Amino acid sequence: MLHGEVRPDGGLTHGLGLRATAAIAAGTVIWFPCRNCPTWTMQERALLPRDVDARLDMWGHLLADGRLLVPCAGAHLMNHSCAANVLDFGLDFGLAVRDIAAGEEVTCDYGAFFADEGWTMRCHCGATECRSDVASSDYDDPALRKGWVGLVSAALPATRVVDQPLGPLLASQSEVYRRVVAGASTVDDAANGDSIVQPGFLT
Ligand SMILES: [Zn+2]
Ligand SMILES: [Zn+2]
Repeated sequence: MLHGEVRPDGGLTHGLGLRATAAIAAGTVIWFPCRNCPTWTMQERALLPRDVDARLDMWGHLLADGRLLVPCAGAHLMNHSCAANVLDFGLDFGLAVRDIAAGEEVTCDYGAFFADEGWTMRCHCGATECRSDVASSDYDDPALRKGWVGLVSAALPATRVVDQPLGPLLASQSEVYRRVVAGASTVDDAANGDSIVQPGFLT
């Protein structure tokens, strides 16, 4: 599920991506893997033409149960940035970690996808802190993880006060989100073992 003011658009840092159509405040839930997101088991993927499977693999998240989930409503098009404005580290939803202006690209950090292994990507995000080569091994970098935890934790208190169009639906499936709304103010307080690859609806 994707925030209604975030839409697919072209001409972004890595071509097609997502753009905010209105200002979105830090602390707003931007997307989460939901029950309507299509999934494929390994057996189903083995029957797909190779190019189709490769495309799904590029767009999708490998879930802890081995299925591949492609985020619905266009959320699969979210591009990477080394200065991402949306992070999901320690959460089972993507959170705006800073204010996003109307017209700004909406991005996440692919390095935080710990279940998808063995990939590298040349980055053109243009951020001053750009890592140039982004890889699945970025997840193992303590400095990066510390940065993600800090950014997510800093945005969590705002989660309770900003407009949350996705809040009711997310609350129905995410224990992590319920903990945040109840007052968890750090990733460690909120963490429940759930993550983007192990969303609450799986358990
Ligand atoms: Zn969905
Ligand atoms: Zn970059």
